[in-house]
Amino acid sequence: MKRLVVLGGGESGVGTALLGQAKGYDVFVSDKGKIKDKYKHVLEHNEIAWEEEQHTEPKILNADLVMKSPGIPDKVPMVQKIKEHGIQIVSEIEFAARYTDATIVGITGSNGKTTTATLTHHILNQELNVGLAGNIGDSFAKQVLEKDYENYVLEISSFQLDDIVDFKPKIAVLLNITPDHLDRYDYKFENYIASKFRIAENQTKDDFFIYDADDPVIVKHLEDHPVQSTLLPFSLKKIIEQGACIENENIKITINNSQLIMPTSNVTLEGQHNLKNAMAASTVAHLLKIRKQTIRESLENFHGVEHRLENVLKINRVQYINDSKATNVNATYYALESMDAPTVWIVGGVDKGNNYEELFPFINEKVKAIICLGVDNEKLMDTFGGMVDVMVETQFMSEAVKIAYKIAEAGDNVLLSPACASFDLFENYEDRGRQFKEAVRNL
Ligand code: ADP
Repeated sequence: MKRLVVLGGGESGVGTALLGQAKGYDVFVSDKGKIKDKYKHVLEHNEIAWEEEQHTEPKILNADLVMKSPGIPDKVPMVQKIKEHGIQIVSEIEFAARYTDATIVGITGSNGKTTTATLTHHILNQELNVGLAGNIGDSFAKQVLEKDYENYVLEISSFQLDDIVDFKPKIAVLLNITPDHLDRYDYKFENYIASKFRIAENQTKDDFFIYDADDPVIVKHLEDHPVQSTLLPFSLKKIIEQGACIENENIKITINNSQLIMPTSNVTLEGQHNLKNAMAASTVAHLLKIRKQTIRESLENFHGVEHRLENVLKINRVQYINDSKATNVNATYYALESMDAPTVWIVGGVDKGNNYEELFPFINEKVKAIICLGVDNEKLMDTFGGMVDVMVETQFMSEAVKIAYKIAEAGDNVLLSPACASFDLFENYEDRGRQFKEAVRNL
């Protein structure tokens, strides 16, 4: 019996363990931290051996195959030892994809993955049998085991791509590349870019690569390292012969001789970035022969994902917007760009080496007050001090929201778009977003 060791007992780890067991592996799950009770129950119920708060080396180095969960960096000693022993390490998507013949749409990028994957699934699901997995909901491995989907839309992080071998989506989408997670890539942007491009590395000309032709990082990398797949770029600025572009306020998608034209007003989600996300999703849908009417209706009735530019409430004609998922500057860039009224901006948290300069034009144009919400607000205070009339700091969400309430006037927006990670004051971005919404509802 082949031995599969699963490093990490979270959603993807436990899913892989179940799938591995069903496919005849002797499975052992090892987690250096604590495993959540709900996952322990699943493992025990299925008689899968596990350990937590340790890695028992002899057991792990005895493996024929190791699945490493995406949260575990390469540099941890156990992973290094596994590599030294020549044992193959794969990610969950690599492992699970070996056991399905479904058509896979893989969506990656620095920002917009969840939104675009959810929207793509929403459109395709009207006419096809489609699973949505990756960083969303039940793990891909678990769905491969338990469901019978003919198609999958996968949200794929660079960490999942780091450990692929043969994985290849029929349709790959690369939304954008801006510096993020560089601590996992030896602080080399080039390594992170290469990781994102691995989504296309096993593709052939019968597969499709949908990408943002306005993103200079993607365009440059493609020039230097061409991919084999059929290219379908999308652009807000250029005319695109094969792919998607904007012409006279219409989205125009051309694939071979087949054209889909629909007004940009069909896209309910706000912001230029969401127009791009919608173009990418619609290109996938057009490729998979979803009817035009279905695509249009699905774009119209898709209202976005929680914590991503989510309209919370209007109080005294002030719109409160929760963009807690904006954990980097680029996401906040698009949030501020999409603001159509004077904005009280709540920002801050754990800085990831942020460079805020690209936000300056929006601050001058749209931001009337800045509320810094973090344990350490010094960099924000230094960077934006003097640019707005009101600038305050706090360590409490409820206080931040109360201050915003006092400053905002009818017609204004109050935007939580932190551009930073959340773990100085919150459990995660969801917790931060929920606390914001609760504070708004308590006003
Ligand atoms: P991801 O799954 O890649 O983190 P999300 O869809 O969760 O992406 O969105 C994360 C943040 O990025 C949100 O603040 C969202 O408003 C913003 N965002 C969404 N799409 C894009 C895009 N195409 N470019 C830049 N920012 C985006």
